[in-house]
Amino acid sequence: MPEKQVTSAKGEGAFYNPSTKAINIPTKTYSFRNSELYKRSIFAHEGGHAWHFQSKYIYTKMHPDFGIMVADVDKEFQSLFKEFRDTLRESFGDIDNWDSPIKKYLDFSPDGVGINQEKMSSFIEKNDISVDDFYVLLGNTDDTLAALTKGQVGRGHAKDYWKQKGTIYMELFAHLNENFWVGNPVFKELYPELYESGLKFMQNLYNL
Ligand SMILES: [Zn+2]
Repeated sequence: MPEKQVTSAKGEGAFYNPSTKAINIPTKTYSFRNSELYKRSIFAHEGGHAWHFQSKYIYTKMHPDFGIMVADVDKEFQSLFKEFRDTLRESFGDIDNWDSPIKKYLDFSPDGVGINQEKMSSFIEKNDISVDDFYVLLGNTDDTLAALTKGQVGRGHAKDYWKQKGTIYMELFAHLNENFWVGNPVFKELYPELYESGLKFMQNLYNL
């Protein structure tokens, strides 16, 4: 039985609401982990959603002819998404193997998915971060892979979430925003190429 589950408390999540233009962060979510990095990462993530919706970089709108919701995604971001998938295919082959770097840190049992304590210990010692920091960083990396594969691999958002219009792009964007403003040494170790091109992309986008 794993000591801790990877997934967070259900129904207590933070989110950005495009209709009210408000970032919602429940107190319970905010105090969920004993990690300053987690708190900064929530702001960077939900702030990223606020940015892509409000600037219409990635957003949903009603189709003028068909009367259904469609996603409008910036062309350059679509190319980045594709480039990321191409890199993963070149490095790991079949899509089912794209999360193999993440699995190094996971233990699978009939009770669920847990963290490999030994490997985690060695990472947190080397990088001088806390256990909770590690959970956050690995979870964010895992959810990024779920976005890039529409939930085929990776743990994070529920499978149905990825069927909604534009969510794969929106989540990739929010996670790259975390990497840019907060940093993610786990992502950097597991997917160095994606990490670097993501940082460069965001730097360009924000003209920094
Ligand atoms: Zn999100």
